Amino acid sequence: MLSPKLEEAINAQINAEFWSAYLSLSMSADFAAKGNPGFANWMHVQFKEEQDHALKFINFLVSRSAKVKLQPLAEVKSSWTSPLEAFEETLAHEKKVTKMINDLYALAVKEEDYATQSMLKWFIDEQVEEEETAQGLIDSLKMISNNGFGIYMLDKELANRTYTPLAGATVAGK
Ligand code: MG
Repeated sequence: MLSPKLEEAINAQINAEFWSAYLSLSMSADFAAKGNPGFANWMHVQFKEEQDHALKFINFLVSRSAKVKLQPLAEVKSSWTSPLEAFEETLAHEKKVTKMINDLYALAVKEEDYATQSMLKWFIDEQVEEEETAQGLIDSLKMISNNGFGIYMLDKELANRTYTPLAGATVAGK
């Protein structure tokens, strides 16, 4: 049985993952409206991946006979002044998520919950990737600065990102 503290913390994490999805979706809409379909595509894929992160935690709670409590999502911004600003905010948010995952792991160690520790290892690795990817795009955007052709080329590149459903993020019990 999952401890009440871990159940509460994982439910808070589910809310944070859905909020990440909300943030990406809002950025996707803003990019699309501003004529950056490739950036919009990248953020749309990110939106789906963040939902999968939430589902992976939901399925874990169900597997452990714990209660899933979906809480209200906080409002998200709807406009960014540049792709650089959007990706800087993405990175700042991912760093917060990383801290939450690390705190969850520390709690699972304290509670001697080995299954939760094992499940969290995937997320620990995923956060390294998330931060590295966001940082890479920030580096590229800084190099491009406000060069229109550079933004156009990066937009073309980001149009190629495709979504792959995450294992363990289907309907609970499947
Ligand atoms: Mg996530």
